[in-house]
Amino acid sequence: MASKIHILKAELANKIAAGEVVQRPASVVKELVENSLDAKASKITVIVKEAGKSLIQVIDDGEGMSPDDALLAFQRHATSKIATAEDLEAIRTLGFRGEALASVAAVSQVEMKTRQTSDEMGFFLRIEGNELKEQSKVAMEPGTMVVVKNLFYNTPARRNFLKTRTTELKNITDVVTRMAIAYPEVAWQYTSGDEELLDLRPKSADERLKDLFGDRQAESLVKVRESTDYLAIDGHIGRPDFARKSRAEQFLFINRRFVLNRAINHAVFQAYEHLLDKGMFPFYILNLTLDPHKVDVNVHPSKMEVKFENESNIYRFVLTTVRRSLASNDVIPALSMQADATLRQMDERLRFSQPGPPSASAAPSQPEFAGRTAPFSFTPGEGLDQVDLEKLFGKIERRLGKEALRKDGEATFPADLQRVTPPSSDRVLQHRPMRAPGEKEPAQEGRAIWQIHRKYILSQVRTGLLIVDQHVAHERILYEQVLANFENNLPTTQQLLFPQTVQLTASDYSLVKELQPHLEKIGFDVKMFGKNTVVIEGIPADVRVGSEAEILQNVLDEFKNSEHSGTIDARDKLAKSFACKAAIKAGDSLSTAEMIVLIDQLFATQMPYVCPHGRPIVVKITTEELDRRFGRT
Ligand code: ADP
Ligand code: MG
Repeated sequence: MASKIHILKAELANKIAAGEVVQRPASVVKELVENSLDAKASKITVIVKEAGKSLIQVIDDGEGMSPDDALLAFQRHATSKIATAEDLEAIRTLGFRGEALASVAAVSQVEMKTRQTSDEMGFFLRIEGNELKEQSKVAMEPGTMVVVKNLFYNTPARRNFLKTRTTELKNITDVVTRMAIAYPEVAWQYTSGDEELLDLRPKSADERLKDLFGDRQAESLVKVRESTDYLAIDGHIGRPDFARKSRAEQFLFINRRFVLNRAINHAVFQAYEHLLDKGMFPFYILNLTLDPHKVDVNVHPSKMEVKFENESNIYRFVLTTVRRSLASNDVIPALSMQADATLRQMDERLRFSQPGPPSASAAPSQPEFAGRTAPFSFTPGEGLDQVDLEKLFGKIERRLGKEALRKDGEATFPADLQRVTPPSSDRVLQHRPMRAPGEKEPAQEGRAIWQIHRKYILSQVRTGLLIVDQHVAHERILYEQVLANFENNLPTTQQLLFPQTVQLTASDYSLVKELQPHLEKIGFDVKMFGKNTVVIEGIPADVRVGSEAEILQNVLDEFKNSEHSGTIDARDKLAKSFACKAAIKAGDSLSTAEMIVLIDQLFATQMPYVCPHGRPIVVKITTEELDRRFGRT
């Protein structure tokens, strides 16, 4: 009887393998660029069209291949990087599995040109569906060029699975950005369609950061550097006041390979405890260097995950180092003395000579000392009396709220709050005296109104007391105003006397480009300047002059952050992001006139009780309720 088991044809086997290695255009870019880096290229060019769906081209000046090797390279399990099982234990190259080119060729039409320096001519080959269609000699400079056309042309399910062009391009940009961070000595050129997104000269790591993230961001970073016999850490972390609302700017590299690792991510986050507002994530770029024997990168075909031999020790090393960097850089001056003492104690225990706790998996979620000796968490009874505690917390709070850093009493809201009202929207324009629904008569002018804790507005109304959260109130007003702008096409822009040039990351640049028509309707006058630079020429009427770049960046972050929150309408998402970021904050002090206008405008909105994100805006305590509580009835 014929056997029922048979070996899959190479073509089919490769297609199956491709499912793991090549999930999207960005995976192809990653694999090809890794090959270029492994070939010791000093210049790498990435060109994509239609977010990589129609074309991905990677050109390098690396060591190239002989014609025989070029043909072999497309076989599955064909690699020059490892030969023995021992080699697998100590991977020093980015690739080693020998399946990238075979996988890519299985799901696309591939052309390759390659030449070794020692050869006079280069070699050209064309492969389609794993079949060699063409080969010839070509004249070319040493190096390798790979062209991948029509990705997933023969796997329609995969092709249909791809996200929007914007998302796929963002994924590619992320890949190139990560590589450019990790390999500053390499020159990078990255083009999408006819737009050049990156053009980076070889630089020092620090200079490369400036090129990628802009001077302002780079200057806000704190240097991290520490090493033991076992492990070294090198990189930058963001000051707490530069934290972002999304994790998009957290870069972890192990031996220069970008990886995702929850434990280390958590260690960094933990080091910031109390320094970040809820929902905020620190910016960081950290490279850990350790003996390749101590880390397994062969956990998943995409090699984005790694396993450490000694995860809990690494966790603590990262936590301590990041904490110390924060403390020594005066990010938390009031606490540094206490912090130093505790860090020294922790240090003693962190010498890696001592065997770490046996359980590697227990560490990340519950680091042993996170609660006990964390230097910045105080519990009464630790020798600090209540007064000291208040002082300390007061200081921390002040450092936390950037807004609160302004001088006492200084109005932080635009003096002329009338500007909040766009002439276009008559609904918001009505400056009628405050009247909460249910109130028959408008309240008196010169009414009783107070701000408490620079956060809430208290106001007497006829039937009792209103407590309004100033931030969400303003958020509601701005949100409805922006929606009205989208409908009426009448933004109110204040042109800037001094247009602001802002450097964005490549992916933010693409986002601005995509959102530009909407941003315009909100009142942003933003010109795309190329090279990831935009020029802000005008801003919405209610944005504080001077903070335009910050607001734009915050709006972009917020927008990215809400990407998965279920809102599909980009305009609505943008309106929410803008409202949230442009609104006055807790900590802004308001004059009586400002409070009155704010409350009036709030009650002119369609939904004065709930902010666009669903938080309550107004709490009302009726006089009856007060009477009852004071035993008057
Ligand atoms: P791996 O990178 O895991 O070895 P790949 O399928 O990505 O497997 O590549 C197969 C082989 O082709 C590599 O081991 C390398 O020898 C060669 N190769 C691929 N790309 C390049 C390149 N850009 N320059 C020089 N050699 C390359
Ligand atoms: Mg490879």
